[in-house]
Amino acid sequence: MTVKAKAAIYEAPNTPFVIKEYPLRDTGPGEVLVRVTMSTICRSDIHSYEGRRPNPCPGILGHEIVGVVHQIGAGIERDMRGDKLDIGDRITWTEYFFEGHSYHRDILDMPQKCDGIRKYGHNLVDADPHFLGGFAEYCYIVPGTGILKLPDELSDEEATPLNCGVATMISVTEAADIGMGDAVVVQGLGLLGLYACAMAKARGARLVIGLDTVPNRLETAKKFGADYTFNVSEVDSEQLVTAVRALCPPDGADVIIEVCGVPEVIPTGLQMLRTGGRYILGGLVNPNADVTIDANILVNRWITMRGIHNYHPRHLIQALDFVMTNRHRFPFKDIVDSKFRLDELDTAFKRAADRTVLRAAIIP
Ligand SMILES: [Zn+2]
Repeated sequence: MTVKAKAAIYEAPNTPFVIKEYPLRDTGPGEVLVRVTMSTICRSDIHSYEGRRPNPCPGILGHEIVGVVHQIGAGIERDMRGDKLDIGDRITWTEYFFEGHSYHRDILDMPQKCDGIRKYGHNLVDADPHFLGGFAEYCYIVPGTGILKLPDELSDEEATPLNCGVATMISVTEAADIGMGDAVVVQGLGLLGLYACAMAKARGARLVIGLDTVPNRLETAKKFGADYTFNVSEVDSEQLVTAVRALCPPDGADVIIEVCGVPEVIPTGLQMLRTGGRYILGGLVNPNADVTIDANILVNRWITMRGIHNYHPRHLIQALDFVMTNRHRFPFKDIVDSKFRLDELDTAFKRAADRTVLRAAIIP
């Protein structure tokens, strides 16, 4: 194969993307070459772009990607579920890859925490095979990736966030152990929070309360299962705690899910929980998320607090099945609310960063 393909290159934080061409090569053993049909801008892409977390440059950002199989290397016959993979199939895949022995994967069953794990959208573009990110015409899927075939009826808009946001929220809501009749509070109603509301309802919650500062997100959350929402910029934390506790008699919420990335919300969240409640942190993905809490509350009120990062490959399968089963109940297709070409990536990042769009999609 001697063709070239385009990619939008992230050369340094806070500088415009540059469209460049790189050669495509034939797939090696265990590799799949995908023609990207859609990729979406995740909050962590924005953090990388703004230089708030280390990411190799020059590189291709983007890890929420779907595409069509263009070439299949030797040894790849089936997806994670055992379905036959062919050229022309539309697929999603785990946002990370790792090959070889891993204590964290093999012994602890935490494949997302392997030492030396690599992620799509976090690689130097000059190194072979160049295309390992979403904001490009093609992407190589390399050995150690979990591949999942997508049903034809699922749109790209519904499928693209599966391999980051949706699978992560399957992991978070599983850790929250949401049960029949639980009252669940979701701190932050971006993409993760909307899926948190929907999954809480699907897992049997009787009540879902959504918290955010952006008025249209509070409205949107109601379509995703939130029974009540509060604009946290309009009430002080004491009023908020009182209002939330009044909705969850007799002793407060069973579960709090943090997906807003703001550490200061934790002391307020703790006040909303019932004795024996569970607090799952999923949004504090950047270092230095310092916060002061009264740890006596954890002891005295039997609070379980747990952080969750990324997901197990089985969560990607569950994410697909969750969306397929609930796509007529919740408007997942509306979450991707804007589309841009590859050469409009700067605008797309700006709109995503200032939250004037919910999820920006790139169609290369
Ligand atoms: Zn992501």
